[in-house]
Amino acid sequence: MTLTVEKTVQFHGETVCVTGAGGFIASWLVKLLLEQGYNVRGTVREPGGEKNVHLENLEGAKERLKLLKANLLDYDSLLEAINGCTGVFHTASPVLSQTTSNPEVEVINPAIKGTLNVLKACSVSKVKRVIMTSSVGAVLLDPKRPRDKFVDESCWSDPEYCRATQNWYYMSKTVAEQDAWHYSEESGLDLISICPSLVLGPILQPNLNASCLVLVKLLNGDPERCENKARNIVDVRDVARAHILAYENPSAAGRYLCTAHSVRTKELVDILKRLYPQYTYPKDYVDVGLDVSGIEQVSGNKLRELGLDCMQLEQTLVDIVECFQHKGILK
Ligand code: NAP
Repeated sequence: MTLTVEKTVQFHGETVCVTGAGGFIASWLVKLLLEQGYNVRGTVREPGGEKNVHLENLEGAKERLKLLKANLLDYDSLLEAINGCTGVFHTASPVLSQTTSNPEVEVINPAIKGTLNVLKACSVSKVKRVIMTSSVGAVLLDPKRPRDKFVDESCWSDPEYCRATQNWYYMSKTVAEQDAWHYSEESGLDLISICPSLVLGPILQPNLNASCLVLVKLLNGDPERCENKARNIVDVRDVARAHILAYENPSAAGRYLCTAHSVRTKELVDILKRLYPQYTYPKDYVDVGLDVSGIEQVSGNKLRELGLDCMQLEQTLVDIVECFQHKGILK
């Protein structure tokens, strides 16, 4: 006798928008939203382009995913995508894997002005709740905070310090999130921010994103002499789940740090070496103290209390390496 297990699909039937739908985190978010029965409007810069084909192949995409062309700096394009949605997941923001000579244009302006454009379009469209993907970049970098302080949602990076140290990404995320909270207070828009640490996990999109590149470099022994710094890590599927949890739970409010594991680089490499001895790995480590961003005690308790149960680090590493082998990114 064959036993069939019936899958209970929770059909929400609600229409939500995900900005930057083809990105690493957003692709998983779109996948989970479709699996849960949502109608999804995804904004992308190049609909029909190779980089978004993976979205069209997701289960439920044919019936319930609509991709719309939008740029963060083009308010009208965002309004068109958001109008008619009950919820918006604002994940789009520039994440560069290299330094830039034009941070204002390439990082800061799209992050800050783009977020305000999204929020204004949400107010006009009477969106019920907005989930914004912020970052630990908006939380960690404050030289005045005592190094042994447990970092929680009350902590903010200092934008002036970010500017002085040319950490344009952290600066863009800090100011974008601060401006978003000011906007929410003035307008009454229901806003929640999710602040993930380093996000790793299998990729759905065709190209390698900046955070997964960190792991690929370690597997390729780059650099040979590596800083043994603190790394706070969370799985991309947990980050996507955190967004949906915060959207669906009426009692969710404010900021949520989204992090699961805290390890030093050498510990991370030791786990990888045990699982995959065939790769090159860094040869030597430089012990660094806790610099302002390499903080070890970052608390993911608030999200855990909301119901997020995070995956084991080893599972994340196995899934990412197998995914990269399958895609030919790793041998
Ligand atoms: P990603 O794969 O590079 O995704 C970034 C997305 O933003 C892409 O879809 C990109 O669109 C879109 N985007 C950038 N500039 C845009 C613009 N001017 N107009 C419209 N769309 C634009 O990176 P990710 O890791 O998934 O990051 C997603 C979000 O999570 C970001 O807000 C990031 O700050 C945050 N975050 C990531 C991590 C991490 O470790 N990965 C950690 C903390 C927070 P295109 O595909 O067209 O370029």
